[in-house]
Amino acid sequence: MIIEVPKGYTFIKEGNIIAFEEKGILKMQRRQGKFDEVMYDITYKTKGNNKCYYCGREIEPQRITLDHVYPRSLGGPTIPPNLVPACRKCNSIKENMTPEQFRAYRNLGTDEQKKLFRKEFFQIKFFQEKWIHILPEEWISQTPISDLLVLIDLHDTHTNKYKRTKEYYLRCQQFPSPIVIDCHRFVLDGFTEVLYAKNNRIREIPTIILENVEVIF
Ligand SMILES: [Zn+2]
Repeated sequence: MIIEVPKGYTFIKEGNIIAFEEKGILKMQRRQGKFDEVMYDITYKTKGNNKCYYCGREIEPQRITLDHVYPRSLGGPTIPPNLVPACRKCNSIKENMTPEQFRAYRNLGTDEQKKLFRKEFFQIKFFQEKWIHILPEEWISQTPISDLLVLIDLHDTHTNKYKRTKEYYLRCQQFPSPIVIDCHRFVLDGFTEVLYAKNNRIREIPTIILENVEVIF
């Protein structure tokens, strides 16, 4: 996947250049914990920060939020193609709906119909399909665990995230979301999933490859 990176883009935090564009490639410093922030920032730079994607209302930049189009709770990744600027109202109404569900909801005529839709939605949401059936197929490929380059020390299996990953895997035989890597297979997001896969000798992991992102040293 190629993400849109504005020409001359630079992301500076506390005086340090964390990421910058060069010849269409987003170069990211080897620095963990800033990946989401860079993805959010690029989304605002490419999609704007003063208009709701859903209702079209103009909003002050301080009051805008970013919505995960495919919800995070259903495995939606934090990458610009899955993020849109949204007002708080639309973001909170959409909650965990898929884009299709939200479109159906917005096309309903009366408040009464919308109320009923939401009621039914919350009854079924816990039984929704796994992300593997929801995310665009062309986003995902399988990467052998042995090919991945991990820049942080992975060892802590006592985190809640690890527990959730384990529970999800045992229930669904799948990871709760795809991992995200750069063009050289450096892991950008999904360290817990990688750790679980390594500990359980799972050979391959569903991956989103950002082909124009490169971790630099
Ligand atoms: Zn809105």
